[in-house]
Amino acid sequence: LSERLSGVFDRLTKQGALNDEDVKTALREVRVALLEADVSLPVARDFVKAVQDKATGQSVTKSVTPGQQVVKIVHDELVHVLAGEGEPGKLKIDNAPAPILMVGLQGSGKTTTTAKLAKRLKEREGKKVLMASLDVNRPAAMEQLQILGVQIGVDTLPIVKGEQPVAIAKRAKMQAALGGYDVYMLDTAGRLSIDEELMQQVAAVRDVANPRETLLVVDGLTGQDAVHTAENFDARIGITGVVLTRMDGDGRGGAALSMRAVTGKPIKFVGLGEKMDALETFEPERVAGRILGMGDIVALVERAQETMEAEQAERMMKRFQKGQFNMNDLKMQLEQMQKMGGMESVMGMMPGMGKMSKQVKDAGFDDKIIARQIALVQSMTKKERANPALLQASRKKRIASGAGLEVSELNKLIKMHRQMADMMKKMGKMGKGGMLKQAMK
Ligand code: GDP
Ligand code: MG
Repeated sequence: LSERLSGVFDRLTKQGALNDEDVKTALREVRVALLEADVSLPVARDFVKAVQDKATGQSVTKSVTPGQQVVKIVHDELVHVLAGEGEPGKLKIDNAPAPILMVGLQGSGKTTTTAKLAKRLKEREGKKVLMASLDVNRPAAMEQLQILGVQIGVDTLPIVKGEQPVAIAKRAKMQAALGGYDVYMLDTAGRLSIDEELMQQVAAVRDVANPRETLLVVDGLTGQDAVHTAENFDARIGITGVVLTRMDGDGRGGAALSMRAVTGKPIKFVGLGEKMDALETFEPERVAGRILGMGDIVALVERAQETMEAEQAERMMKRFQKGQFNMNDLKMQLEQMQKMGGMESVMGMMPGMGKMSKQVKDAGFDDKIIARQIALVQSMTKKERANPALLQASRKKRIASGAGLEVSELNKLIKMHRQMADMMKKMGKMGKGGMLKQAMK
């Protein structure tokens, strides 16, 4: 990692916004870090470019260098991209018996992961699971699953010599229904590389089982190949999620980013060893830190930001006490709310606001709305933010369309601002700023 970024020795901190040069310099290092972590080249390139557009113009936190700030922005974006939507570690397995299809190349860890996952479903969710091996290619592959089944106390479909994958899938389906299983897992055969026969076989099994989840098992240590594998499986079979194995190894796990970029599907679990317990819910924060390998810098910037936020909150309290509350203040409040788990929880913390909190909830005020409201404030000019009285019809139209929203939504925001401003004024007069401050901590 270059000294430019390490920053500890860099006394030249600078205030203001990130310029093109700052961002480019830092991103060159980031790009190298991503490639070292085995992120595929096109994915690394696209990612860096997206961050470049995002980072330029963002402000630099006090006592942090531009390079450090960029690293933090990269980190956050990485977490964001890795996380995607939906809850990691959760599978769609209602409507028993729910089929789960496991696909991937040979040696990626399908069989091991099938058993690990079965154990997890059994132990954590109390599911009755049936496992079936469809691997008729590799000698002893079926016995491998059977042995694991005995070890973890999960049933496996009895082995019938000479039976073909589609027939096994049908039998598993029937057995799962008859035996009252919640879930049945189909562990397919893999090849050393993608081939047509493999894809046709897996597609035929998919058509029989109609799986609720199709999990692609990928070796987290592979780099460029992983992308190709994922593209192919997703195009031919259609996957619903990814499991990254061998994340206990020395690799930095760049395949995670490649998987997200190429398939857009969630990474559900990571394999962290050969043992049956070594399967964990995918944690974007953790993997992002590992891919980037710049944890110290990220922590440093986070600390600086916390300090700054505390100072900001202090300043804001002083303004409230004087009865000042403009759109910038509102935006800051909204951002705080976002961080603290939404409007309702914040309101709930403020004395005397329980009722309002309920109204807010009844009005359908959720966290998506908070994000939209922040966007609305962002699309106002400096003057408008400082003086919301300026917000007349033509300006409203511009602001709403700037945020890609309706004027009606902006009107709601303005109304809310007015109510909050009134409230702040009252509180300021009562000299009870302390209580608000309490709630903001
Ligand atoms: P399959 O061919 O896709 O079914 O792969 P297997 O499940 O048979 O796994 C191949 C090898 O990788 C076995 O020796 C496993 O123990 C090992 N393996 C699977 N997952 C992990 C993991 O997360 N970490 C480590 N270190 N080894 C793993
Ligand atoms: Mg196998």
